[in-house]
Amino acid sequence: MSTPEVPTPYVTATTVSDFQANISAVRERIAAAARSVDRDPAEVSLLPVSKTVSEERIRTAVAAGLTRLGENKVQEAERKATNLADLGVEWVVIGHLQRNKAKDVARFATEFQALDSLRLAETLDRRLQLEGRGLDVLVQVNTSAEPQKYGLAPEEVADFLNKLTPYQSLRVKGLMTLAEFTSDTERVRECFITLRTLRDQLRDNVPAGIELSELSMGMSGDYELAIQEGATIVRVGQAIFGPRSTPDSFYWPDSPSSS
Ligand SMILES: *Cc1c(COP(=O)(O)O)cnc(C)c1O
Repeated sequence: MSTPEVPTPYVTATTVSDFQANISAVRERIAAAARSVDRDPAEVSLLPVSKTVSEERIRTAVAAGLTRLGENKVQEAERKATNLADLGVEWVVIGHLQRNKAKDVARFATEFQALDSLRLAETLDRRLQLEGRGLDVLVQVNTSAEPQKYGLAPEEVADFLNKLTPYQSLRVKGLMTLAEFTSDTERVRECFITLRTLRDQLRDNVPAGIELSELSMGMSGDYELAIQEGATIVRVGQAIFGPRSTPDSFYWPDSPSSS
């Protein structure tokens, strides 16, 4: 998927009209994928992912219509949130979070998609209370059973959700996953099916105050598959901003691009 020799289909956007073209191409593909399985395209929201993208280029992307941006790394997200505060963009943190950075997320993020431990939930909740804020959160699930991936094992999620109820500043909205990084699309699809099936199993028995309506799954290389399997949020970076030079191994340990 990210072998350097393979030409990527992604086009770097630098002007407002470049961004408009990339965004509308992605939106069209989202709509087509939804319709291919008789879903309403309006059920799927696009979360553009701006990691590694300069603040200047983000300004152009916002001028082209983006209002919500996903970032993997907290420090980068916080810097952008500060320097681009005038844009009024909502920032969504989608990467693994260390507890010592929970206070930063509590300050600037509107959503956090990678909740994966009770100690982190506890710390986030405490910092949010100090800030007088709430935070939408998704629980990250490791659907590929790769030991190096972040997220809870599917069988741990029910118990985890039950234990989140004391943390009133966290508004649990659903589940998030990263599929296995492989060119085997059936294997990728299985990861998405695992997440959707888990959500369907748990949905009717979650504690009061917890919702499982959102399924955040699918990235530039696999969002159409994810939509066919039920994604309500797709996290798309390269197909909107253009190819990234940073290897994926910078964002998640031991992905195939690092070997
Ligand atoms: C970077 C990233 C994405 C988007 O990946 P693209 O290949 O740029 O679409 C999605 N999810 C997470 C957690 C990411 O870090």
